[in-house]
Amino acid sequence: MKLILRGHHLLCLKGFQGYGYSKEFAQNMIEVNYLRKSENTTVCITDSPDDICKSCPNLKNGLCENELQNTRIVNMDREVLKKLDSSKEYNAIELFEKIDSIFNSKDSVSKICFNCIWHDKCLFYQKLSNNR
Ligand code: SF4
Repeated sequence: MKLILRGHHLLCLKGFQGYGYSKEFAQNMIEVNYLRKSENTTVCITDSPDDICKSCPNLKNGLCENELQNTRIVNMDREVLKKLDSSKEYNAIELFEKIDSIFNSKDSVSKICFNCIWHDKCLFYQKLSNNR
């Protein structure tokens, strides 16, 4: 199985605990989160709509909500992508191990997670905040 994931969603998946923008979104997120834990899954990384966005009610005409919000989201993606090789197709397990080693403090995610509305629901962000 091959997943396409945008940069900042690599962090969102680490913190996901069942919440989302709609029932369909949350169900798809559960499936993607399951697949990314399989040895047989590979991941291509991007800064555009991905396998999570495809079930999101906020995706409109290929943009996340509107031009302004989409620019914010793409910038978040690029903060993650600049630490990785976006030309590569990663083994999912190895990719998420790499994510753990790169994004291991609250400071390391500050530019990415700073404005996120899911702070209080995100296990990943909470764990990094508590480690500080
Ligand atoms: S469309 Fe926007 S809010 Fe929806 S999953 Fe994609 S990046 Fe997140």
